[in-house]
Amino acid sequence: MECIFCKIANKEIKSDIVYEDELLVAFKDIKPVAPTHVLIIPKKHIDGVQALKEEDEALVGKMIVKAKEIADQLGLKEGYRLVFNIGEHGGQTINHIHLHVIGGRPLMWPPG
Ligand code: AMP
Ligand code: ZN
Repeated sequence: MECIFCKIANKEIKSDIVYEDELLVAFKDIKPVAPTHVLIIPKKHIDGVQALKEEDEALVGKMIVKAKEIADQLGLKEGYRLVFNIGEHGGQTINHIHLHVIGGRPLMWPPG
């Protein structure tokens, strides 16, 4: 298997896991852009938002609810940002769907 996030999900590659259940894994981003930067992925490989199917609705819903729970646990009381980067213009570098949870400092808008 070539996909780095599949390898993280099945522990072939070490990561700093902050949450795991039967469907999802959340781990710290190796190159954090803010004091808190966690990635939430499904264990199932999906290329990205661009590849979602109707059958993935519940799974993506769980990713977002879990992002909220992790943000609460990490004490991001002042707010935070949830980001899906999609495709080349969206800045997606890893083709396994992942939700960024970014916080711990004021974030700029609009993005670059
Ligand atoms: P994106 O640009 O949306 O595709 O985000 C990919 C993210 O994965 C980047 O923020 C990277 O820093 C992060 N990343 C890449 N490799 C690893 C890894 N082995 N462990 C944790 N995060 C990683
Ligand atoms: Zn994958």
